[in-house]
Amino acid sequence: MFRAVVLESRDGGVTSEIRELDDADLPVGEVTIDVAHSTVNYKDGLAYSGAPGVVRSYPIVPGVDLAGTVAASDDLRYRVGDRVTVTGWRMGERHWGGHAERARVPADWLVKLPDSIDTRTAMAIGTAGLTSMLCVLALERQGLTPDDGTVVVTGSSGGVGSVAISLLAGLGYTVAAVTGRTEEEPYLRRLGATEIIDRAELAGPGRPLASERWAGGVDAVGSHTLANVLAATKYGGVVAACGLAQGMDLPASVAPFILRGITLVGVESVEAPYDKRVAAWDRLATDIDRDLLETMVTEVGLSELPEVSSRILDGKVRGRVVVDVHA
Ligand code: NDP
Repeated sequence: MFRAVVLESRDGGVTSEIRELDDADLPVGEVTIDVAHSTVNYKDGLAYSGAPGVVRSYPIVPGVDLAGTVAASDDLRYRVGDRVTVTGWRMGERHWGGHAERARVPADWLVKLPDSIDTRTAMAIGTAGLTSMLCVLALERQGLTPDDGTVVVTGSSGGVGSVAISLLAGLGYTVAAVTGRTEEEPYLRRLGATEIIDRAELAGPGRPLASERWAGGVDAVGSHTLANVLAATKYGGVVAACGLAQGMDLPASVAPFILRGITLVGVESVEAPYDKRVAAWDRLATDIDRDLLETMVTEVGLSELPEVSSRILDGKVRGRVVVDVHA
């Protein structure tokens, strides 16, 4: 028997409770995992709230990400005791996820953790951190270097933003952090930001082109914010877009593309191919500053998940949440 959070659809809403389940309850998949840690991403908040279009069918165990050890495997690539992580793949939406002491998933979804990354660190990183690393890799692929100038990060107190700031600063970039929580300035500066910008400055409709401010950007916010980031990106610059915290729209013009030759790169981590994931985890193993990562972390147990999931939707969670599923 193991403990799991179970979401049920009831009376037009969604309820969550911790239940004792059996291995026989788990969905089909080649690999059964003893989960040690999970995390809370923005999408988990949506699942707990019952937001339309997230969870496909109930009951479901939420949790977009998990890390643990292989308990049983029908796949030759994985053996009992291997330390693994699964991020994305619609876990907690279409497939039972990581807010449980045990999980079963298709073998193709797994990545073996690098030796230097334990399960807690893996979930301090989670989908948000993996996405940040994919953004950094995308900027590098477009040839961005620290000598090109400042990189702007939006949604900076959140999970994607916090990890992106620390990774970029660690690589030697000058980082400008856009935030609605200016009281978090000391936190953002500790992560490596040297300029703090009130998000109100970028949140409304802007001009097609603005003064050139940034060589690159990591945008977790979308909508007017992304449009304004594009408008102020320097000639030849590059912006990685991965989120929609402000909105899914992009009220921009083609001016930054056709007059400044800038590049907008889309970043997706949920179904990212295996090789891309492994490359990102390998870079995280070498690049992430463990002490800084720890400053981003709040640790919770299964019983605190409904409350934390609601806070992340309100933009009140700072950095990253690690779930100790045995707590
Ligand atoms: P968080 O909730 O941790 O962070 C989002 C941050 O965005 C908030 O902390 C806040 O930062 C800022 N924000 C919130 N609301 C608004 C608003 N109305 N206008 C402007 N800024 C706002 O989420 P994550 O970091 O985990 O995820 C960020 C985004 O990336 C989400 O939209 C998520 O869905 C997406 N995502 C996409 C992935 C992909 O594969 N493409 C993978 C993972 C996440 P502050 O208070 O500092 O302003």
